[in-house]
Amino acid sequence: MEFHDEKQVECVYIPESDRGAVCLSTQVGCAQGCKFCHTGTQRMMRNLTAGEIVGQFMSARDSYNEWPTPTDETRMLSNIVVMGMGEPLCNFENLKQALLILMNGDGIGISKRRITVSTSGVANHIPELADLGVKLAVSLHAPTNEVRDKIMPVNRKFPLEVLMKACKEYQQKSERRQFITMEYVMLKDINDSEKDAEDLMKLVDGLEVKFNLIPFHSWEGAPFEASSMNKMHKFAKKLESNYFAAPIRRSRGEDIMAACGQLKSAKGKM
Ligand code: SF4
Repeated sequence: MEFHDEKQVECVYIPESDRGAVCLSTQVGCAQGCKFCHTGTQRMMRNLTAGEIVGQFMSARDSYNEWPTPTDETRMLSNIVVMGMGEPLCNFENLKQALLILMNGDGIGISKRRITVSTSGVANHIPELADLGVKLAVSLHAPTNEVRDKIMPVNRKFPLEVLMKACKEYQQKSERRQFITMEYVMLKDINDSEKDAEDLMKLVDGLEVKFNLIPFHSWEGAPFEASSMNKMHKFAKKLESNYFAAPIRRSRGEDIMAACGQLKSAKGKM
């Protein structure tokens, strides 16, 4: 997507057989600098306005000619994941405004149950997501502060104990103790041992979570390598044998450089 000032972000439609999610961006670039993320290598330019966030969804509906608004059951663009470029909770007021517009029954009317906001761990705004009623995904990616400090600079401001406390508060406030999705990118010899899996389970003790194990998408000059499939399966098995859901996410969009932060960077212009 390109805006009036020629700034660009990525917006990706992820189709399933009977529905699909639109992945929205909230900032041009990102200041969080997660070491495994290609967007993190692009400097932060600006926050998107609420209109620019909603506009991505409207443009996606234009692209798929989803007008007039279909009923909930027949929508192709049925879900929203706020997982594109940027840290959503560092642009919280605009994000909140955009979500209220997207959820409003007199407008687009996307159910709050079909919206997921993903954060790298900006803990102070996490409980407010429960007030909005949307689902929470946390880019966790490490079982200890020692590992997380190395790969996610946000951990210095919001270390794991602060993040987990915010997650507990979110869950207490949310309807029906909404499950939290813990995203976990698998990095060879960094966070993929069986001991890491054990530490991870201890970390989330007291929370209702499901894990999403993500194969690492490499790019030229990337500082990490992907874990082997064998290691990923062992890791998943360890979690699953302790009754955690831990699917290994099917890699989508790598073939067209539409994995996190890659689509726009492939086009190159900021
Ligand atoms: S993973 Fe998310 S928060 Fe981290 S650098 Fe990438 S876009 Fe920013």
